[in-house]
Amino acid sequence: MSVGKLRNYIEGEWRESASQRELDVRSPATDGVIGRVPLSTAGEVEDAIRAAAGAFQDWRETPPVTRVQYLFELKQLMETSFEDLARTITQEEGKTLDEARGEMRRTIENVEVAAGIPSLMMGYNAEDVARGIDEEVCRQPLGVFAVIAPFNFPAMVPWWFAPTAIATGNTYIVKPSEQVPISQSKIFELLHELDLPPGVINLVNGDREAVEVLLQSPEVVGISSVTSSPIARAIYSAAAATGKRVQCQAGAKNFIVVMPDADLDRTIPGLITSFFGCAGERCLAGAVLLAVGDIYESLKERFVEAAGRLKVGNPLDESVQMGPVISREHKGKVLDYIEQGLEEGAKLLLDGRDIGVEGCENGYFIAPTVFDEVAPDMAIAREEIFGPVPCIMRAEDLDEAIRIIEANPYGNAASIFTASGGAARSFKYRVRCGNIGINIGIAAPMAFFPFGGRRDSFFGDLHGQGLDAVDFFTEKKVVISRWG
Ligand code: NAD
Repeated sequence: MSVGKLRNYIEGEWRESASQRELDVRSPATDGVIGRVPLSTAGEVEDAIRAAAGAFQDWRETPPVTRVQYLFELKQLMETSFEDLARTITQEEGKTLDEARGEMRRTIENVEVAAGIPSLMMGYNAEDVARGIDEEVCRQPLGVFAVIAPFNFPAMVPWWFAPTAIATGNTYIVKPSEQVPISQSKIFELLHELDLPPGVINLVNGDREAVEVLLQSPEVVGISSVTSSPIARAIYSAAAATGKRVQCQAGAKNFIVVMPDADLDRTIPGLITSFFGCAGERCLAGAVLLAVGDIYESLKERFVEAAGRLKVGNPLDESVQMGPVISREHKGKVLDYIEQGLEEGAKLLLDGRDIGVEGCENGYFIAPTVFDEVAPDMAIAREEIFGPVPCIMRAEDLDEAIRIIEANPYGNAASIFTASGGAARSFKYRVRCGNIGINIGIAAPMAFFPFGGRRDSFFGDLHGQGLDAVDFFTEKKVVISRWG
């Protein structure tokens, strides 16, 4: 596949970028060039902001029931293009076709939930708050919002936010990751078929320079971003400085606790998907396997055995279970962490560094690599590796396991595998993470639940998805009236 040079979508039309700055988009499986992405100029980003601002007044006055008709149509178009979009995700991101289909299903579910906005956006009222006086709350859209997306879910992440943003009557700008811009271009081709009023939703390709224009613009009233924690922190403070609403989903280091009473026949498949799904490049991926008490030996043995059996290869091959990581640079970063782990004294039980994949000799593959004897203060235990490199640690009991989790600054997700309701209850009550799994390895909330971490995994207050998203994209106005 090669899609040539991508364009921006501004004010209902495709526009060539005049930028001198461009990047190759490469297939992680082959290193082949599959497209070229312009890094848009400040002026082009400003054009998108102007288009969105210009479309706002008429769009906010369009009744919600009319606005969501476009989402019903979009859902149908996405269903029709489902396989093509899944294949595109696999080609530009490197996850397997099955994983890409899962991503597309989640993308569509977010569109479906936002189609319920006419009722989700309703306000509330009370008669006679004082004699003859009524009070009501209505929700109103605010203006132009934008999303800054990461590489690991090229289709889905912008659509965690975009459907609710436009359904509530705001106008929107999508800034995809420059590493994986093709899926969004394809989704915007579908949007182009809808005849939405020009400017309601716009696409600008670019990098941090485009982000800076969005952050500085007084016309942009809100930003949703999904990035690593240092960038989330920078976006959060820059957006707050210009008075924007802001929600920044950030990095993660997710602990998976396995209690002595866990049923390993059920636990191991859940662990394998959690640690190695999407080559470990999921913000909800397991990163540290925390064995409690005497399950350690049997858990370790079975986990390593199952990890070693995973078929790593070209993600377009339906039989492959794990694809490459995103880029040569990122592969280098993961390999550096493996070196660092060895230097710090951790023990490699499974070493996936030397994998070769026939037909994909230049791809960015790392096979499952498992560290044991990892201490909480080692870099591999503290920092986000974002690759298929789990660390096994031990805890005497649940209290110690929770103390280890709490000592880590991230708070995106944590899971427990156990047969004990008491242990599960204590875990979910005490652990300060945004998403908790109980006998579930990847605690990914459905589109009608809020999604977002705590502590260094999230900057902001209202999360993406669910009713939080409705609150984020609307402002409540209170009207108090007396008649007669
Ligand atoms: P990243 O931190 O490199 O951020 C990429 C995005 O930020 C791109 O859109 C890029 O153009 C923009 N950007 C880059 N530098 C910037 C700067 N200095 N200022 C402003 N914007 C800048 O993230 P990535 O490597 O593409 O994605 C992986 C990260 O995203 C991981 O840390 C992962 O945990 C996180 N993530 C979090 C969630 C979540 O819900 N918490 C979900 C998915 C991914």
